Amino acid sequence: MPHNKPHPGLIDAHCHLYSLPDIEEAVLRACDAGVSKAIVVTEDMDSMERTLRLRDKFPDFVLPGLGIHPVNVPAMDDNEWKSAFGFVQDHSNEIFCIGEIGLDYKYAKTAGEQERQMNALREQMDVAADNNLPVNLHSRRALRQTMNEAIAFHKKTHLNALLHWFAHSKKLLRITNENGIYVSVGPSILFSEESLELASSIDPNLILVETDTPVYYSGKPSSPAWVEKVAEKLVSRYPENTLSKERIAENTLQYLK
Ligand SMILES: [Zn+2]
Repeated sequence: MPHNKPHPGLIDAHCHLYSLPDIEEAVLRACDAGVSKAIVVTEDMDSMERTLRLRDKFPDFVLPGLGIHPVNVPAMDDNEWKSAFGFVQDHSNEIFCIGEIGLDYKYAKTAGEQERQMNALREQMDVAADNNLPVNLHSRRALRQTMNEAIAFHKKTHLNALLHWFAHSKKLLRITNENGIYVSVGPSILFSEESLELASSIDPNLILVETDTPVYYSGKPSSPAWVEKVAEKLVSRYPENTLSKERIAENTLQYLK
């Protein structure tokens, strides 16, 4: 891409904007830092409703995603699941991705709980497939399982999958690179050399930036403006001319297309 072309602005690829105390200020600070938009992903009924209201309030900034977080799945009864899943289906024509969905075995220890998470993940992936939407994925203590679901989804539908906060293993990153799976990198690389080292093995065409706002670092809540610093640090770490902020911004648009 020619250097004189203005880039579309960085996009926070995964945040929970509704959890910040002063959302308006966070949006203003992000725009000041060159962060033009944020993909806002959800956890449950309450955060889904709040996200759509935020989209109405900040239509240029908020790219809503809807989904039921795996942490919440094991404790939901049938009625709670039906109404939350119905909400995702009912609003699937006005969103940009399905997320935050995935697997989290910290909160699903028994085989039954893990099966419920897997079913919830696959049902929500079906909504994504039916509506031509990418998925935004969470994985904890189930990295390989979540990655395999992402690869199967991408192979079957040719839609995009993003593994958020996934840079824990070079071996798994080699597999995501080979299979065209996007991986987003967050503020941990600003604080940990090991995280930065791992992140820099992601294919420069598949790397996105995120904050998972409001996750705290050094006692401070993160905020979408931070992706500017995350992008800058990443760019400085890649071999010269292999990664740029423009490239990251373009990757995000590709992921969303
Ligand atoms: Zn999240």
